[in-house]
Amino acid sequence: MFGRAPKKSDNTRYYDILGVSKNATQEDLKKAYKKAAIKNHPDKGGDPEKFKELAQAYEVLSDPEKREIYDQYGEDALKEGMGGGGGMHDPFDIFQSFFGGNPFGGGSSRGRRQRRGDDVIHPLKVSLEDLYVGTSKKLSLSRNVICSKCNGKGSKSGASMKCAGCQGTGMKVSIRQLGPSMIQQMQHPCNECKGTGETINDKDRCPQCKGEKVLQEKKVLEVIVEKGMQHGQKITFPGEADEAPDTITGDIVFVLQQKDHSKFKRKGDDLFYEHTLSLTEALCGFRFILTHLDARQLLIKSNPGEVVKPDQFKAIDDEGMPIYQRPFMRGKLYVHFTVEFPDSLSPEQVKALEAVLPQKSSMHQLTDMELDECEETTLHNVNIEEEMRRKQAQAQQEAYEDDDEPHGAQRVQCAQQ
Ligand SMILES: [Zn+2]
Ligand SMILES: [Zn+2]
Repeated sequence: MFGRAPKKSDNTRYYDILGVSKNATQEDLKKAYKKAAIKNHPDKGGDPEKFKELAQAYEVLSDPEKREIYDQYGEDALKEGMGGGGGMHDPFDIFQSFFGGNPFGGGSSRGRRQRRGDDVIHPLKVSLEDLYVGTSKKLSLSRNVICSKCNGKGSKSGASMKCAGCQGTGMKVSIRQLGPSMIQQMQHPCNECKGTGETINDKDRCPQCKGEKVLQEKKVLEVIVEKGMQHGQKITFPGEADEAPDTITGDIVFVLQQKDHSKFKRKGDDLFYEHTLSLTEALCGFRFILTHLDARQLLIKSNPGEVVKPDQFKAIDDEGMPIYQRPFMRGKLYVHFTVEFPDSLSPEQVKALEAVLPQKSSMHQLTDMELDECEETTLHNVNIEEEMRRKQAQAQQEAYEDDDEPHGAQRVQCAQQ
């Protein structure tokens, strides 16, 4: 389902909504939108859903770039490209920008339209055990709710006055001189009425909320973490964010943050477990107890005669993570083996091992004559990662100095001697 190319068939809907053909010109689109938007405007008793669809369709088709994406891949591709729905504009804004004001006249007769409140996002730390067995967490949050005494009016009488600071628009405009012939106009919410456009007479203020229209409330939410949920997965409580007058309340969204586990690592539905074997265990067999994420004890053992090589993986089916919403199915549990070799052996141990281990291959039996022709060398221990890091840093430094000044390379060579 996820990440696949959307079906090719859903790239005609926007044209159908506007009632135009697929090769409509910008002029055709404008005309079609204008006619349909006026007819379906909620202020004229139109259907708000239809009005929103019209704005959406027009917004996409009037933008050549978006139209091309839509024509090729359909609606879903646009939604994905815009980061999950954040990209669409308010249908009323599109309507207003189209007509440059209210086409029905009568000033701001509509008053303040409903806007959508912000979602409140909380990270929620969970352990890998929580995601394996499932859990619920009770969280106490404080949020704004509409004052019940005044129903969010802020006044006893329900009346409010137009704010003098912004003439009731809620916005103030400031002008900044940027240069001799350049000015910047900036709009910001009015500070006197906090952008609401209204003020309330002192004597008329609601005694419960003191004219603030909202009150703080403590609320306990129970977050159910289901088996198999993933790091980054969202758990949404619709309409539980801060309430405000004339606002559709946003959601409270918990985003799961999985804490690192000391023993297990998770990749999708699979689990990875690190285990170190001694050389004897790797060669002669091993047995150990693995405590799983639900505290079950699993006995892990090698097959008779089996040798485990360093860096080898083995898997146990159906002991990985439960699959989200299908908790009876589980991924795999991979065990990654590290083999610890002894640092050195005594001559007696070498003899004893040579007696039981497979014979050295004849390729490695060197003749005295061959040995005479060789030069002696000495092997010494290195930390290869550190060596490579140092070499890379050195190469970067040289490249940098080459760029910087013509004599740089020479100087580095000198320093190495
Ligand atoms: Zn104001
Ligand atoms: Zn009140």
